[in-house]
Amino acid sequence: MSGRYTPRNIGPVTATPPFLSTLTGLFARPAAENPTVAMIEAAYRHHGMDARYVNCDVAPDDLGAAVRGAVAMGWVGFHCSLPHKIAVIRHLDELAESAEVIGAVNCVVVRNGRLVGENTDGQGFLTSLRTTIDPRGKRVVIFGAGGAARAIAVELALAGAAQLTIVNRDPERGAELADLVRRRTPAGAEARVWDGAFRVPADTNIVVNATSIGLFPDVKERPDVDYASLTDGMVVADVIPNPPHTAFLAEAEARGCVVINGLGMLVNQGVISIKHWTGVDADPAVMRAALREIFV
Ligand code: NDP
Repeated sequence: MSGRYTPRNIGPVTATPPFLSTLTGLFARPAAENPTVAMIEAAYRHHGMDARYVNCDVAPDDLGAAVRGAVAMGWVGFHCSLPHKIAVIRHLDELAESAEVIGAVNCVVVRNGRLVGENTDGQGFLTSLRTTIDPRGKRVVIFGAGGAARAIAVELALAGAAQLTIVNRDPERGAELADLVRRRTPAGAEARVWDGAFRVPADTNIVVNATSIGLFPDVKERPDVDYASLTDGMVVADVIPNPPHTAFLAEAEARGCVVINGLGMLVNQGVISIKHWTGVDADPAVMRAALREIFV
């Protein structure tokens, strides 16, 4: 008997038993509604990997214990979502460049016992965007200045975007993000207060909705934009993954813009995370299909 496990071979195992899965997961609160597990486990299955991804509902006060527990159990890494993206940093040994500039971590990699913080949200957006346009030298309008906008603005700026206009309802938050971009990246940046239908400047190349407007179940909501100012030379992207085709993208498409939905960002941040954790290049089509089954 070889000792190798097959479904029909459930007797004593004589060689190294293959019963120790590679462990990954998510620390968040709430965690139950986060669908990332479905797309990551679809990729693990598709690539025949003996790996697991587990959603863990972790209270803020328990984050340190959860991180130490993951290391103790030999996890290769984990995602962090709200409310842990900033709080996790004090439990880490090192930050990747963009995570350090953004000041938030959504993906932790355990490498030789050291905990490295990455931010794959903005990188996922960039990968998705690059299927359509290279941001180098481009002028970008970003709606929002929250966590997603911050990750996207920093990655676009580090990727060579020329000028970012941050349009946000809360003036302080918008000004803070524009200031961060100017201080920490080679890109130019200005903040505009969002207090009425925003007219997108005609020389804009890329427009991004990085707010939560339009997320299920508020699927009819769309950012307050003068939609006549969107023209057919512009690439228009949304971070909202559910529904993938938002009211915002429908408006942009009707004006001849090339549109990019939020599924690409979500899928690609997962692809990048799996690569960090396991070295495997996961198939984005399999992951996208898993999400399509879940989302409206
Ligand atoms: P935050 O709460 O950090 O930020 C929300 C942003 O939206 C703020 O700028 C806020 O403005 C703005 N906003 C919300 N409602 C309105 C409104 N009615 N009018 C004007 N502005 C508004 O959230 P995140 O940045 O973490 O997430 C934003 C969205 O991005 C979420 O819907 C999330 O699903 C999505 N996301 C998608 C990812 C993907 O992979 N596709 C990854 C991460 C996030 P203000 O500052 O004035 O309050």
